Amino acid sequence: MSDVYTESLNKLIEQFAKLPGIGPRTAERLAFYILNTSASDAMALADAVKNVKTKVGRCQICFNLSEDSTCQICSDPRRDKKVICIVEQPKDIISLEKTGACKWVYHVLGGHIAPLEGLEPSDLTIDKLVERVRGGQVSEIVMATNPNVAGDGTSLYISSLLRGENVKITRLARGLPTGTTNEYANGKILADAIRARQRLE
Ligand SMILES: [Zn+2]
Repeated sequence: MSDVYTESLNKLIEQFAKLPGIGPRTAERLAFYILNTSASDAMALADAVKNVKTKVGRCQICFNLSEDSTCQICSDPRRDKKVICIVEQPKDIISLEKTGACKWVYHVLGGHIAPLEGLEPSDLTIDKLVERVRGGQVSEIVMATNPNVAGDGTSLYISSLLRGENVKITRLARGLPTGTTNEYANGKILADAIRARQRLE
């Protein structure tokens, strides 16, 4: 950090440099952009950062991102609440919704099970999912965890927990290239995988 900059400018550069993919030179460039942009644009950015940290929480039903206690999808009366699609992260919902093929609701696990990384079932929202299923009115669980070893293991663990419940368990068809994440899957492939979902035994 150069001494020629003021303390405030140095601090802004430092903050930008913490962002993923931003090196020191880009951090400097962004800080100077902010310095030179209009006060209203700069404040809008500051407010957006502040709001995302103070207003965005989790839906109390599905753990999707939400600014209210219940997210927009769970509050939508046109959704089929009897079908719950299981995803690892809120961003997976965005990929699935972009296909336009989903009329169901979701359950966000908050990750996957990976004992070697110290990620246990108790770190996820699995107990809340079991509660939702036991609460009745659920006819199908669609596993849409990522098509890799950790995602498959997580799906199998959950399906074993739900085996005694009166619910059909399916997973997205494997048009998805194994080892990828749903986030990057091509929209057309994902839409086909949704329509052709298979029973998970
Ligand atoms: Zn929700």
